[in-house]
Amino acid sequence: MKIRVKCPTCQTVQDIFQDAPCCKCQNMLSASGEAAIQLYRMGSPIGIAVGYGIYLDGQPMGHLANKESVFIPVSAGSHNLHVTCGMTRRCNDLQINLPAGTVAYAKARIKPGFWTNTIVVEPANKEDMPMA
Ligand SMILES: [Zn+2]
Repeated sequence: MKIRVKCPTCQTVQDIFQDAPCCKCQNMLSASGEAAIQLYRMGSPIGIAVGYGIYLDGQPMGHLANKESVFIPVSAGSHNLHVTCGMTRRCNDLQINLPAGTVAYAKARIKPGFWTNTIVVEPANKEDMPMA
């Protein structure tokens, strides 16, 4: 499982698999947080080549490829998850309140629209998540 973290020192977003030094400034990064969000992008024939942009509490958290799943350690409390895709800025943000020690599962998919596609981010069950 890829763990998506942002270096608190240099703000570089990167994927780690365990506690590891930042790829840029060597600051030690923790692979665990008080709580976590696991986000899965459902496979879609639309916009397959386009990466989704992930925004956590308004801060960019990198991209999400088709059928990719990322694990994002977060602090306990309430968080806003927003996903964009290319020119599509429309997204129903997911508001999550996470007590310490919990993991929230969410899946993102494109809902085709007449003029523009909307990205839907919705709560999911652990069973919906790929094991990768
Ligand atoms: Zn860094």
